[in-house]
Amino acid sequence: MNPTTTLIHSIPVDELTGAISVPIYQTSTFVQEAPGVNKGYDYARSNNPTRAVLENMIARLEEGHSGYAFASGLAAIDAVVKLLKSGDEIVAVDDIYGGAFRQFDKIWKKFGIKVTYVDTTKIINIVNAITANTKMIWIESPTNPTLKVTDIRDVASIAHAHDCLLCVDNTLATPVLQKPLLLGADIVLHSATKYLGGHSDLIAGLVVVKDPLLAEHIKFIQNACGAILSPHDSWLVIRGMETLPLRMEQHGRNAKYIADYLEDHPAIDKLYYPSIGGGIVSFTLKEDTEEAAKRFVTSTKLFKLAESLGGIKSLCCHPASMTHKSIPAAQRQAAGVSDSLVRLSVGLEYFNDLIADIEQAFPKKEKTIFQQHQKNSTGQ
Ligand SMILES: *Cc1c(COP(=O)(O)O)cnc(C)c1O
Repeated sequence: MNPTTTLIHSIPVDELTGAISVPIYQTSTFVQEAPGVNKGYDYARSNNPTRAVLENMIARLEEGHSGYAFASGLAAIDAVVKLLKSGDEIVAVDDIYGGAFRQFDKIWKKFGIKVTYVDTTKIINIVNAITANTKMIWIESPTNPTLKVTDIRDVASIAHAHDCLLCVDNTLATPVLQKPLLLGADIVLHSATKYLGGHSDLIAGLVVVKDPLLAEHIKFIQNACGAILSPHDSWLVIRGMETLPLRMEQHGRNAKYIADYLEDHPAIDKLYYPSIGGGIVSFTLKEDTEEAAKRFVTSTKLFKLAESLGGIKSLCCHPASMTHKSIPAAQRQAAGVSDSLVRLSVGLEYFNDLIADIEQAFPKKEKTIFQQHQKNSTGQ
């Protein structure tokens, strides 16, 4: 069967009533027939039927053994790091999500877990950073916001040769574009706040693992530490994921169109759009100052200035002063997040409206290209 059909029908019809939508089981506990005799549910931190539907859905979509839903992407990251112990080390991608860096640097460091950051697009950098204590390799691919792509298959073989787990934050690509577990990763992680939820109306995190023993460990941590996703938010993520393939197709089409338009634009210095597609486009300006970038992001009208990405409405942001502010300036710039970098999360609006919005946000003298572009474009 086509994966979209499988996805849509992975949501079971409610056995009790025939409801075609998943019921929201808003309950803390489940009545037992006798001590320990129940219908598979005893306490809603451990297990909740609505959350279970979501967890099965993401496990299937990522083609893993089992999935786990957390209160946020950062709570999911927290749970994965808890697989390790004091003294263990992580080798992580340098252009990492700012919140992940903050958690590693401000929380995990004081518990004795050390993280080394390298440009993971070059495998040799990972090999050189691995020590006898390295237990996990942590990558995002593509990264955010400079959209660097790492070869997951290559990193997986290096990781396994050194007895390390490979965790891939697949938030930007989504399982529609990339399935890291099939490429050799052990753990896939999502901020479901972004494309999976897809409507900018919730905060959620998901973890999927391939190995049954690792699944038991994550399940134990999820229950023992308790950062679970609520039944209502689980329901919202399920609802979002039902249209994920459709939305990703349109995000990708719109973003590619905008990337093509920006490529030769006189106001643009560097353009970032990854080979695997997706809905994020980043660029630096010829006028390479923070002021110029800030002028741009406060001049767009359809692209709303906001943190986050992956929703149906287009967003723009200035990573250096927003999402990546918690990374020290030198380290941020070395990872390519320069002061004039702008990140667009391209939504599902009509593409010519988005291009017109970008165009009017550039300084006047650079506006002529728009008319040319409109003349050349046949539209879609
Ligand atoms: C947003 C994001 C996170 C954190 O997720 P939250 O749901 O905001 O806690 C982690 N990784 C990436 C790549 C993200 O974009």
